[in-house]
Amino acid sequence: MLTTKIRRYTLSLIYLLSMLSITTHSIADVSSAENGNSDQSKFNIVSREQWGAAKPIFAMTIQIPSRTTIHHTATKQNPNKTIAQKLKGLQAFSQRSEKLADGRTKKAWADLPYHFYIDHKGTVAEGRDIQFIGDTNTSYNPSGHIAVVLEGNFESEMPTPNQIASLKGLLTFLKKKYNIEEKSIGTHQDFAQTACPGRNLLKILENEGLIN
Ligand SMILES: [Zn+2]
Repeated sequence: MLTTKIRRYTLSLIYLLSMLSITTHSIADVSSAENGNSDQSKFNIVSREQWGAAKPIFAMTIQIPSRTTIHHTATKQNPNKTIAQKLKGLQAFSQRSEKLADGRTKKAWADLPYHFYIDHKGTVAEGRDIQFIGDTNTSYNPSGHIAVVLEGNFESEMPTPNQIASLKGLLTFLKKKYNIEEKSIGTHQDFAQTACPGRNLLKILENEGLIN
């Protein structure tokens, strides 16, 4: 009886710790020591393993990351879902063929179209493996692009200060790790006919000098 209770207690403790690890034990593979830089090069990213990603459903094409391109999800920020729920939902949508609101049909993608996701709280999660080309519903070649998406529809709502702070950290991290030049940081609408990343985010990116 007591043993069962202890076992139950231990299991729920392990479960609790594993939930906590989603937000705490997530340090990307660049350390300050490695770069000889300040703490700025340390950056927390929720890994695919931590949010419970499914495997890509077919093989993807290798890319060499050479630029960073910023997107919005174009769906409203949702404070009621965890980042794991959001990423799993986005992955499930990505991996199936579906009729889009504009009448076109999206084909099934191997994995999430984006390499990084920043939720409304500013938590950064790993999307598609950065060594593979992302995907898009618009007509441009995304090869070489590191696709970063912020949760929200910034045609109508505002990014949170935490989202912008995390975006800055992520851009700095990617700049150092992949030698991305300042002039190679832009947004989706630099390459395709789209409202993405939304006028409110675009204004902030311009005002803060984050894009050229
Ligand atoms: Zn976009």
